Amino acid sequence: MFPLVFATSNAHKTEEVAAILGADWQVEDLRAHPGVTLDEETGDTFEANAIIKAVSGSRGAPGLLVLADDSGLEVDALGGAPGVRSARYAGETANAADNRAKLKAELSKLPPTRFAGRFRCCMVLARDGEVLHITHGSVEGQLLTEEVGAGGFGYDALFIPDGFTETFGVLPAATKNQLSHRARALAAMKEQLASLA
Ligand code: IMP
Repeated sequence: MFPLVFATSNAHKTEEVAAILGADWQVEDLRAHPGVTLDEETGDTFEANAIIKAVSGSRGAPGLLVLADDSGLEVDALGGAPGVRSARYAGETANAADNRAKLKAELSKLPPTRFAGRFRCCMVLARDGEVLHITHGSVEGQLLTEEVGAGGFGYDALFIPDGFTETFGVLPAATKNQLSHRARALAAMKEQLASLA
């Protein structure tokens, strides 16, 4: 198994990345590396914030491969919001339920229609403060104004990926992990990872 530090404390993201990468990789996040601190996400794009996390995280874990994910939801009817502010949509101290409530409230103010949107993910691989590779992935879908399903995390219960009739809150994790923004960004990263392992 090859060690990979995943620069997040979000256990849901880590579970997905570990499942997508499979048994060859020993994925450890910041819960296993409490000494690694990440710089503040001051960028205004997913890529800028993923670079901040990967570079700062890799400085704290010398010699190790460090992967960072910055991701979020874009809703066309909201001009691309919540976007890079997905984790803080309802405020700096907001949790996922607060953010979903804010999204539902914003959508409810609009004339009812099919609300198109997408999850986006940027993955950055770094070592010793140097960026090695950057990939992107997205999954198109539609937003609901009521949550359906208790699986997943974040906005999953409000998002139906195109080609399906159920939300990511209902679809099995294995299905999400085949087509999600995170799965697609990681698929594009796999060759680079293999060459560095
Ligand atoms: P980050 O930790 O700054 O990348 O924030 C990502 C935020 O986007 C999360 O807190 C979630 O609200 C949302 N998000 C990203 N990926 C997903 C996903 O796969 N499902 C649901 N919400 C997601």
